[in-house]
Amino acid sequence: MGGTVSRRAFVATGVSAGAAVAGVGAFAGSAARAAASGEAAGGALPPAPRAAGRPMPELERPLADSPERRLGWAVVGLGDFALNHMLPALGRTRHCRLTAVVSGNAEKARAVAAAYGVPASGVYSYDDFDRIRDDRTVDVVYVVLPNALHAAWTERAARAGKHVFCEKPMAVTEAECRRMIDACARAGRRLMIAYRAPFEPHNAEAIRMLRAGEAGAIREIVADHGRPLDPEKPADRWRAEAALAGGGSLYDIGIYSLNGARYLTGEDPVEVRATYRKPPGSPGPGGRPIDVEQGIAWTMRFPGGAVAHCTSGYDFQNVKRIQVMAERASLALDPATEYEGNRLIVTRERGREEPKLGESSLQFVGELDEFASAIRENREPRRGTGPEGLHDVRIMQRIYEAARTGRPVEVPPAR
Ligand code: NDP
Repeated sequence: MGGTVSRRAFVATGVSAGAAVAGVGAFAGSAARAAASGEAAGGALPPAPRAAGRPMPELERPLADSPERRLGWAVVGLGDFALNHMLPALGRTRHCRLTAVVSGNAEKARAVAAAYGVPASGVYSYDDFDRIRDDRTVDVVYVVLPNALHAAWTERAARAGKHVFCEKPMAVTEAECRRMIDACARAGRRLMIAYRAPFEPHNAEAIRMLRAGEAGAIREIVADHGRPLDPEKPADRWRAEAALAGGGSLYDIGIYSLNGARYLTGEDPVEVRATYRKPPGSPGPGGRPIDVEQGIAWTMRFPGGAVAHCTSGYDFQNVKRIQVMAERASLALDPATEYEGNRLIVTRERGREEPKLGESSLQFVGELDEFASAIRENREPRRGTGPEGLHDVRIMQRIYEAARTGRPVEVPPAR
C-alpha cells in the first residue's frame, strides 16, 4: 500500500478523500506527540477526556411520543395529496402513526402499507372498511376522498367508533355537514376539518400580529387563489365533475381565500356579492364544457368594517396570495397557502420587513398533532372544528347564490 490509504480503508473508517489527505498531517502530528510523551518508549497515554452528562438542551420541538403511545391513523383514499404530503407528514408528527390504509386499489394499498410498515391486517378495501371497528390499532380515520364522499365516509367512520379527520371542503351541502357533526357527537368521537393554513408559520404569525393589534384595524383584504385545472390528470378528473367535486374552484382552492379572511379578521362575513367569470358549463381546457365553475370573484363584508375581495380560478397560473391592508401595517402573504415556501412581508411606515419563520411544511405536522392533542385532552380542536367547516360551506353556497342572482346575499351567523 506504500504511503497511500486504500479506498476500502476510507470506507471502513467513514473518512472522505479530502479529510484523508488532511489526515496525513494529523498522523504525522500524533506520531510526534507519541514520541514526545514517551509512548514510543512504552510510556502511558495522557488520560482521555471523560464523557459526562449535560442538562436537557433547549428543544426545537418537544420530544415525540414512543410508537405505542401514538394515536393510530387509518388513511382513506390513497391519492395525490395523501401520498405526497400527508403520509410523509404523519411520520414527522409527535403523536400520530399510520396503522391502516383504505383504498379501492388493493395492489396500491399493499405497496403503500409495505412502504410504511403497516401490517397486512391494516389494509382495507372500501367494501370491508366496517371491520375497522374491531381494529384496536386505529383511533382516527382520515377521509381524503373526493369532496362528495366526505359526508358518507365520516359517518361510516364515526359509526365504527373512530375519531374523524376530514379534508376540506367539509362536504358539499350544509345538511351533509350537520350529519357529520351529529354522527361524531352521537358516537362520542372528535371531528376536525383539515384546514392546514392556520398552522403554517407565516399565516400563524400574521394571525398573531393582527390579534395582538400590532397592525391596527383591518380595512381591506385581497385574496386570490388559482391554478390551471387539467381534467386529463387523475387528481383533477373528479374536480371537473360536479357530482364528485360538489363545486368548482371555489370549493377546491377559493376556500383558502374565504377561510383565510375569516382567520385573519377573526370574524365571520355578514354579506357576500359575487360574479361568475366562468360559470358552470363553460368550456375547459381542450374546449370541452366543464360542470363546475372555473372562475369566480366575490367580496365579503365583515362586521368590524373590513371588506375582503377574493378571486378563485381554474384557468390561470398558480396564485395563492392574501394581502391584509390595515391601519398601521400591510401584511402580504405571497405565497400564502403553498405546501412549502410561503412568505410574509410586513410593510409599516418605517419600511418593509420579512420575519424569518419556520418551514411551511410544518403546517401538515401541526394540524395532525393538533387533532391528536385535542383527542387526548378531550377538547375541541383549536382550528377546523365541524361548525367552522360547516360555516365555510354555508358561505360558499351564499357566494354561488350571489353569483347566480347578481344580488348581495346576507350570511346568517354561524350557529
Ligand atoms: P386524488 O384524486 O389524487 O385522490 C382521491 C382518492 O380518493 C383516489 O386516489 C382514490 O383513492 C379515492 N377515490 C375513491 N372514490 C373515488 C372516485 N369516485 N373518484 C376519484 N377518487 C376516488 O385527489 P386529492 O388527493 O387531490 O384530493 C382528495 C381530497 O383532499 C379532496 O377533498 C381535496 O379537496 C383534498 N385536498 C386537500 C388539500 C389540502 O391542502 N388540504 C390539497 C389537495 C387535496 P384509492 O385509489 O386509494 O381508492
